[in-house]
Amino acid sequence: MNISNGLRELIFPPRCLCCSVLGREICGTCSIELQIRNYRTHVGNVPVFSSIKYGSKAGRILLAAKEDGVRRADELMTEALRNSLRTAIKTFGIHPTLIPIPHSKKALRKRGRNFVEEIASHIASQENLPIRQVIGHNRKVRDQSQLDAHSRRGNLSGSMSVIRPLVRPCEVFLIDDLITTGATLGEAVRTLEIGGFHVIAAVTAFVALPLR
Ligand SMILES: [Zn+2]
Repeated sequence: MNISNGLRELIFPPRCLCCSVLGREICGTCSIELQIRNYRTHVGNVPVFSSIKYGSKAGRILLAAKEDGVRRADELMTEALRNSLRTAIKTFGIHPTLIPIPHSKKALRKRGRNFVEEIASHIASQENLPIRQVIGHNRKVRDQSQLDAHSRRGNLSGSMSVIRPLVRPCEVFLIDDLITTGATLGEAVRTLEIGGFHVIAAVTAFVALPLR
């Protein structure tokens, strides 16, 4: 530990990102709840691989990574996403192209970073996998957080399109931070399949169970 880090920790001792208890950035109790496991759900016929069950603690981690760029939160998200990806690759035995779900322009303005794409690019280079951003938004969509599954599907219907056409046939994995109702991934799968892409699986860090 260097002097400036030591001084900073003395003035601002680390608190758990989830429950604010003094000590580590993720305390022992919270890390048990945030343990990486293998979860498998699906959107239509497409299997979805996830690693951490989404709840209030995972919600705080996601927010700390997304909105504040907290390094420990980013690291946990990366670990979780990498685990989901490796499980999916082992299941299908393929070398997929990764396609991250795009941010809305509003979210990008608010956060100043393309969060999912950044983490996905980092993992893609570590795992030596191709990554392409081929999905774009056609129009604004409402904030989804207060909408039920049916309204989310309506809100997203026709909202995405393929912005870079398929060059040659390839097998793809969709990448997102979280699956809650599956509406976003479902719309992305539909969009990609219309564009001729073969979506083998989707991979997320978090999963809200049961899917609403
Ligand atoms: Zn805690």
